[in-house]
Amino acid sequence: MTRKRILIVGGVAGGATCAARIRRLCEACEIIIFEMGSYVSFANCGLPYFIGDVIVDEEKLLVATPELFKSRFNIQVCTDTEVLSINRADKTLEVRDLATGRNRLERYDALVLSTGASAVWPDIDGIHLPGIYALRTIPDSREIRAALDTMTRAVVMGAADIPHPTR
Ligand SMILES: Cc1cc2nc3c(=O)[nH]c(=O)nc-3n(C[C@H](O)[C@H](O)[C@H](O)COP(=O)(O)OP(=O)(O)OC[C@H]3O[C@@H](n4cnc5c(N)ncnc54)[C@H](O)[C@@H]3O)c2cc1C
Repeated sequence: MTRKRILIVGGVAGGATCAARIRRLCEACEIIIFEMGSYVSFANCGLPYFIGDVIVDEEKLLVATPELFKSRFNIQVCTDTEVLSINRADKTLEVRDLATGRNRLERYDALVLSTGASAVWPDIDGIHLPGIYALRTIPDSREIRAALDTMTRAVVMGAADIPHPTR
């Protein structure tokens, strides 16, 4: 009998938590996470603290790694792998390995979409000029951190999650 194959698109908070939960419910299932970024299960909430040097070690942002998912949960994680399309008729995904540029098909029995959100870039003149950053990912925070040395004045647009004054 073939194992039930569950594919998850997106490997941050939603995708990673869902994968771990599915493993608890189904020991025999094959579970694979596809994440187009280079990291899974990282702490977005730590990114501002990484920029502000409260968290100095970048590795502390990683809640889990692909290796840990494999060894602890027997879940395969494919980072740098973008899901391009879903064929619901034959239950396959077309995925691209972003490192090699090669596409392949992946069969699924069940599919979870946990593709989250991306930063909104308002339609303002000059929005893509150098010195303008979004903050959602580890590479984003690295870029802002690198620019701090030459920065004398910063403007922040968007303030949904206000850090606690004592932090
Ligand atoms: C700076 C910052 C601070 C935050 N602080 C807090 C906080 O203190 N407390 C709190 O509760 N929340 C906080 N949040 C919000 C929290 O991080 C998000 O709610 C959470 O990340 C949502 O997780 P998600 O998995 O749904 O989506 P996302 O984090 O958006 O992850 C979705 C993933 O799917 C991947 N993906 C998308 N499309 C594809 C595709 N086609 N193929 C492969 N992969 C794909 C993306 O690359 C992405 O990594 C913060 C967010 C930010 C940016």
